[in-house]
Amino acid sequence: MTLTELDHDAITRLHTEQQTAYADLKARGLKLDLTRGKPSAEQLDLSNALLTLPGTDYKDAAGVDCRNYGGIEGVTELRAIFAELLGVPVEQLIAGDNASLAIMHDTIAFALLKGFPESAGPWAAEKIKFICPVPGYDRHFSICEQYGIEMINVDLGEHGPDLDQVRELAKDPSVRGIWAVPTYANPSGSIYTEEVTRALVSLEAAAPDFRIFWDNAYAFHHLTETDAPVLDVLGLAAEAGHPDRVLIFASTSKITFAGAGVSFFASSPVNIAWYLGLLGKRTIGPNKINQLAHARYLGSADGVRELMAKHRAIIAPKFERAEQILHDRLDGHGVAAWTEPQGGYFISLDVVDGTATRVVQLAKEAGIVMTGAGSAFPYGKDPRDRNIRIAPTFPTLGDVEQAIDGLATCVLLAAAEQRLA
Ligand code: PLP
Repeated sequence: MTLTELDHDAITRLHTEQQTAYADLKARGLKLDLTRGKPSAEQLDLSNALLTLPGTDYKDAAGVDCRNYGGIEGVTELRAIFAELLGVPVEQLIAGDNASLAIMHDTIAFALLKGFPESAGPWAAEKIKFICPVPGYDRHFSICEQYGIEMINVDLGEHGPDLDQVRELAKDPSVRGIWAVPTYANPSGSIYTEEVTRALVSLEAAAPDFRIFWDNAYAFHHLTETDAPVLDVLGLAAEAGHPDRVLIFASTSKITFAGAGVSFFASSPVNIAWYLGLLGKRTIGPNKINQLAHARYLGSADGVRELMAKHRAIIAPKFERAEQILHDRLDGHGVAAWTEPQGGYFISLDVVDGTATRVVQLAKEAGIVMTGAGSAFPYGKDPRDRNIRIAPTFPTLGDVEQAIDGLATCVLLAAAEQRLA
């Protein structure tokens, strides 16, 4: 029976049971952390060969000495690998330093200071707004918050954002952008379909310089044998008459080293020229030695696919166990729903409305640190206080098991408490 169907006595019994389970949980003195979507050491070890590359053979295929300044667009052979994987022309893909988040930040900062080529002026001259599919990636929202860009929530479903809400919002000329994590979104695992993607690139936006921040951070991070396809979003946008609408971001952070990978930016020729013009004032060139090391280590698009299969073998069992425990502990109680992602780094757990903060607090007091409730929403505010992000990749399988089991106890206890309140 679900919790709402239980009478007062039955709820009281469940509450007492869960209080006992929670006391046992606390007595175990756990120290577990399910907060950040980081690769585990075992995953990082897969790429240790990078640490010895490129060795003293530091010239790229064109004979450029990668130790020196220059080459702002990045090492061509590495760009070619990721252009193939991302389905974009190599001339329209730039390889940068270690964080695509930095490029996202910079494109927004550049837009605020200078505007895009077709903008009437700097974005900062006006009060601007962004559409934020929720739940979403907290660091996207932090960039907006930092710079006073007003964020408006829209619901993110399994196949992308609610298009009616997006269409309505885009009628406002102060709405300049939308965040999108099109493949295995953080944290929902959503996969934008071609239909949704076409709708977004064709959207009638009141602002002529409306931009889609297409953060394909998990494009190759499959957890099953069915790979979500990488859509030719630049081609679709051009076809829809909006060639400059899409900015694509990606990186090797969860392919090689999260702290020492290579980031990528792809867009239309106009946007690439705009970006390089501004970037050229910020740097004389990226870390080409690291890019060359990556090109040699990865070798080809297939090299990346093979490496991703090895990541999958390490992390898929953690997701499977987490999902199994959630089923075993929570099925039938009507207290939670969760995603079973086909890829990416997260499980998104929705608990009873109004209890997520309490669940996270209970878990913390029992030594299980979860990402703060509300963190997947603009301004850290989950309007329903129900969403919790689970990041199972970093801990060991054993720790994932203990943490999810403990979390389930907290979900049940918080739900029972609420019913009795
Ligand atoms: N984009 C999304 C959706 C992410 O979840 C993350 C990391 O968690 C990043 C970007 C960070 O990417 P990078 O390491 O390339 O800055």
